[in-house]
Amino acid sequence: MRKKTEETKTGGRKKSEEAKTGGQLLAEKLFFDLKNCWDTAGAGDLKAVEEFAEGYKSFLDRGKTEREFVRQALELLKKRGFTDIETLLDKSGASGLLKPGAKVYQNIRGKSLVFAVIGDKPVGEGVNILGAHVDSPRIDLKTNPLYEDTGFVLFDSHYYGGIKHYQWTTIPLAMHGVLIGKDGKRRDICIGEDPEDPVFTITDLLPHLARDQMQKKASEFIDGEELDILAGSRPYADPKVKERVKLYLLNLLHEKYGMVEEDFAGAEFEFVPAHKARDIGIDRSMIGAYGHDDRCCAYAALLAALDLTSANKVPEKTVICILTDKEEIGSMGNTGAQSRLFENFIAYLCAKTRKDYSEILPRRALSNSSMLSADVNAAYDPNFDSVYDKKTASYFGKGIVLSKYTGRGGKFGGSEANAEFCQKVQGLLNKNNIQWQYGDLGKVDKGGGGTIAQHVANLGVEVLDCGIPVLSMHSPFEVISKIDLYTTYKGYIAFLREA
Ligand code: MN
Ligand code: MN
Repeated sequence: MRKKTEETKTGGRKKSEEAKTGGQLLAEKLFFDLKNCWDTAGAGDLKAVEEFAEGYKSFLDRGKTEREFVRQALELLKKRGFTDIETLLDKSGASGLLKPGAKVYQNIRGKSLVFAVIGDKPVGEGVNILGAHVDSPRIDLKTNPLYEDTGFVLFDSHYYGGIKHYQWTTIPLAMHGVLIGKDGKRRDICIGEDPEDPVFTITDLLPHLARDQMQKKASEFIDGEELDILAGSRPYADPKVKERVKLYLLNLLHEKYGMVEEDFAGAEFEFVPAHKARDIGIDRSMIGAYGHDDRCCAYAALLAALDLTSANKVPEKTVICILTDKEEIGSMGNTGAQSRLFENFIAYLCAKTRKDYSEILPRRALSNSSMLSADVNAAYDPNFDSVYDKKTASYFGKGIVLSKYTGRGGKFGGSEANAEFCQKVQGLLNKNNIQWQYGDLGKVDKGGGGTIAQHVANLGVEVLDCGIPVLSMHSPFEVISKIDLYTTYKGYIAFLREA
């Protein structure tokens, strides 16, 4: 901003108030100005930042698995008057048609969720989409996991997603399980989240005996098979039984949940860090938690879509939010972004918003649509300077991150947005005074990664990766900035309204 120069009574000018030079003004005009969002936020914004962070933390604490996140999101949708679109599919005639302002969702096997608020314009003219994933790296169990060894009983595990094995040892873990009994009834098991609950842990070798271990590469010094979870050590009081410790534990599970050993085979047991989301830093500017990737973007997207359309405001274009499962293992399967789930939902919307459905409609809708792939970016970490390119890294406090492309070495396996769409998004963020920043993933050839962007782009949708910078990604305790979370939420609202 150009400072007003003030003539003093003596006729001189104070040095600090001097007019800017031509070069300074030119620099202001031409250079990309990356402000700190804490500096530019007003007092009202700062209050909203705190409130948003509090809401997110409690949502996260109650949504540590994809199923739990979807369950909470569904509760919110139902409170806001959304209807399950599958209940409308068989209704014929005008009574089954959705009018502008209608709110519908589809629950995909309790692990993914798509919802929409119908806009004034026809769906075939394109919709505005936010897509995020709700699964996070964790420790799953094998199909026959329980075994006894030297008086201990342990769970044999198989990790899920890209983790550094060693980070998951010697921390408290909670067990989140879903099993279907022989009676066909579902049982949800959660041990370790209540402060009164016991927790679990994966042990590590004491330094005194770790001479050989410490010589190994980090990728090998805790092997995938060494991630077994300590579950008990007390024997069943009958010396005639073998595996008494295992029997004692199994009996406790049987008494409480009616389960037998065989039930582990098909069940879903996910072990996640038992800790809650906490503020980080004396200034409380950051949040440390398990599962920011990608639940911080999923939460911001969910709230953006709901808040934009609250008080029954009808958006111009139809607004859609996709929350998917299985991103951390490649988005495959019937709850992942590579499945037909999104195409099906678009087809349902086309069929339910006009009487003359034809196959061309969802195809047109897809190629006319725009999406922000809402996923986290690796924030610059001063501890690990060598892998980041400071010019294109994302930074805490600098707002929503736009990643034109993802992938690794030579842009393989990623997605790239075109210049036209990038400019459209940058322009609408600028217009709404929403601070955005670049965010390439590290230096060239140092690694890389992808998101769900490519799978939706393959359907013909314009897609740009856009999310929140995170430190310690995929670790049990990831860190984000509160102001980036809030700025991203505001950016998502602007996109849904104006793209
Ligand atoms: Mn992610
Ligand atoms: Mn990830």
